[in-house]
Amino acid sequence: MTARILVVDDIPANVRLLEVRLLAEYFEVLTATNGPDAIETCENGKVDVVLLDVMMPDMDGFDVCRRLKSDPATSHIPVVMITALDQVSDRVRGLEAGADDFLTKPVNDLQLMTRVKSLVRLKSLTDELRLRASTTRNIGIEELLSRNFASEDTTPKVLLIDERKSSVERIEKMLRDRADLDVTSDPHAGFFQAAETSYECVMISTAFANFDPLRLCSQLRSLDRTRFVPIILLAEEGEEERIIRGLELGINDYLMRPIDQQELTARLRTQVRRKRYNDQLRASVTQTIEMAVTDGLTGLHNRRYLDSHLQTLFDRAVARRRPLSVMITDLDRFKSINDAHGHDGGDEVLREFARRLRKNVRGIDLACRFGGEEFVVVMPDTDGAVAEKVAERIRAEIAQKPFAIGADGKTIEVTVSVGVSSVLKGVDTVAAMMKRADLALYEAKSGGRNRVVAKAA
Ligand code: GH3
Ligand code: MG
Ligand code: MG
Repeated sequence: MTARILVVDDIPANVRLLEVRLLAEYFEVLTATNGPDAIETCENGKVDVVLLDVMMPDMDGFDVCRRLKSDPATSHIPVVMITALDQVSDRVRGLEAGADDFLTKPVNDLQLMTRVKSLVRLKSLTDELRLRASTTRNIGIEELLSRNFASEDTTPKVLLIDERKSSVERIEKMLRDRADLDVTSDPHAGFFQAAETSYECVMISTAFANFDPLRLCSQLRSLDRTRFVPIILLAEEGEEERIIRGLELGINDYLMRPIDQQELTARLRTQVRRKRYNDQLRASVTQTIEMAVTDGLTGLHNRRYLDSHLQTLFDRAVARRRPLSVMITDLDRFKSINDAHGHDGGDEVLREFARRLRKNVRGIDLACRFGGEEFVVVMPDTDGAVAEKVAERIRAEIAQKPFAIGADGKTIEVTVSVGVSSVLKGVDTVAAMMKRADLALYEAKSGGRNRVVAKAA
């Protein structure tokens, strides 16, 4: 795992010290000796983690952090504040400024590497989501990237897996009012509980008499339902090796016993905040992409989706020498339905038509609204004869049952014409196949409507 770390400190010797240690772990290192330079470097992109000294003249670390966190272009970059050892109030101020983590001077090697690695891993998850969002920029998703997801401060749902009663009691006390805490002493039960409930953080003690806590960490990481849940390990002094293994397995953070309340709440808050950010980002990406490829009126895929997938389905069929058919449907005299029942009445017919269409094709068929009152169904693994039967079934399904429109139980007769074509053996293209279906549809219309015409392959 390589990443670019920005080290910010007004004292060059301090910068050098961290730089050397990070370089030894094969990180790329950028440096800055003042706040404005640090912010500029972050704005230029490509910084994965910022190690930020608190005490700097002019613009101090809190200020820098606040500015980075308030700019949507940089707010997702993890910031680790480096504070003087005994300045507990600095940690609190740092967290208030939006810092993701903190380290105390002199910086301990294990802590430095583990914090940086864990933040880099999380950042790469965020980056992947942001990348996915930005590759769909052409479908109007830009706004999503600039959105600054407000992290709400509702009480997080947390699971503690710890078999020592005294430890559980202490943690319960520390997190009273700060977390909605579930506790289990059995690691096996804890695993199932974590999979069944959507926790925002799972804390796992290392102190089990007969169980390897890292096994639980790795199980949680390999299960889909828990893959993204933050894990904090509660370790003992002297368990550095185990912590390093844990971080390799994907735990997000750790705390050393005796647990400091302030540190516990701060680390928990950081994990929860980041999880919420990523959850929102993931949901928005999914939703925005879905909206971009879905027809709002009928819920079927839209033409954009068809355009981007038909070629793929076509190529796959040709490569595997499998059949593939398409049908284009066009409602008959739809203009007169609009004229007689209004545009809303027409819309109702379109929705009901889409519903019947979907009901009559298989899950692997691709049904789309092509535009207006035209729909297209792409049927993989389906030859012309079968496709014609499917088209005929749909035609009958529309003609036989009148459509209800409006609230007063009024019904109208609707019919549809359908053109069917299939991939030809030998040389064929998507455009030619669609053209044949279109010609078939035209024949169905001119032949009297309410009928299916198939272009024999
Ligand atoms: P034909 O049998 O030849 O297909 O006749 P038609 O009236 O269906 O043909 P035409 O393509 O000329 O008319 C389609 C009409 O569909 C025109 C348009 O106003 C209407 N239309 C297109 N999109 C929508 C829509 O989203 N909602 C409604 N209600 N009407 C639509
Ligand atoms: Mg039409
Ligand atoms: Mg029509």
